Amino acid sequence: MEFLKIENLCKVYGKGENQVNALDNVSLTIEKGEFTAIIGSSGSGKSTLIRILLGLENSQMGMALIDGKKYSQLGDNPFCIVGSFLDSCQPYPTRTGFQHLRWIGLACGVDSNRCKECLELVGLSEAKNKKVKDYSLGMKQRLGLATALLANPDILILDEPINGLDPEGIRWVRNFLQSFVNEGKTVLMTSHYMSELELTVDHLVGISNGKIVIDAPTKDILKEFGSFEEAYFKALEGKEGA
Ligand code: ADP
Ligand code: MG
Repeated sequence: MEFLKIENLCKVYGKGENQVNALDNVSLTIEKGEFTAIIGSSGSGKSTLIRILLGLENSQMGMALIDGKKYSQLGDNPFCIVGSFLDSCQPYPTRTGFQHLRWIGLACGVDSNRCKECLELVGLSEAKNKKVKDYSLGMKQRLGLATALLANPDILILDEPINGLDPEGIRWVRNFLQSFVNEGKTVLMTSHYMSELELTVDHLVGISNGKIVIDAPTKDILKEFGSFEEAYFKALEGKEGA
């Protein structure tokens, strides 16, 4: 089943000399229950793709569909279908973790018990009454994941969820996302931690200058190239040589 479908997506920022083709005819299909990662260097277009998929920005051409619909057509409570994590999205610093979740919970019809449950799921129960400004980076990432999980979605779309985490934090996110996928749910995340992703994802997508340069199952990539890093740099070489 095609769950997330991106077709011929083009996104241009700026005009004239300043024009950037952030996404250049990107097409991609993600199946239900799949764990997919998008890799690519800074500025390659990962966050733009995620923002368009989440309906936060429009594209000039093409489409991005979630279970056959645009994000804006997902109904009254899209949080029940898709949970998201954006690296640019910061909670209000003087709110506590619990207050932050409660505020979002009220907007998406989730009660205070579910907020507590999500804080427990991400290991923040003890810190729930601490102000977010006193959270470490890892704790903020965990709160971001708790927010994404709040309405018990079937899909998680996460932009750089392991950026800046310590080894314990990375391991925790890995196990956490794996158990989410083991329940038959779908994860799409971006990252540039390639060796970390080899341990977790089923499907790797590589993007460079707004173009897809890799789109294959993990097992095929590891069989052919031995590592994601090798596959990625080979794909870049291939493109330059073309
Ligand atoms: P990544 O997430 O892979 O680092 P982005 O999607 O953030 O890449 O950026 C892709 C390209 O689009 C970059 O060249 C970036 O400078 C440009 N870009 C992203 N957002 C904007 C914006 N709001 N205005 C102008 N240019 C942008
Ligand atoms: Mg980004």
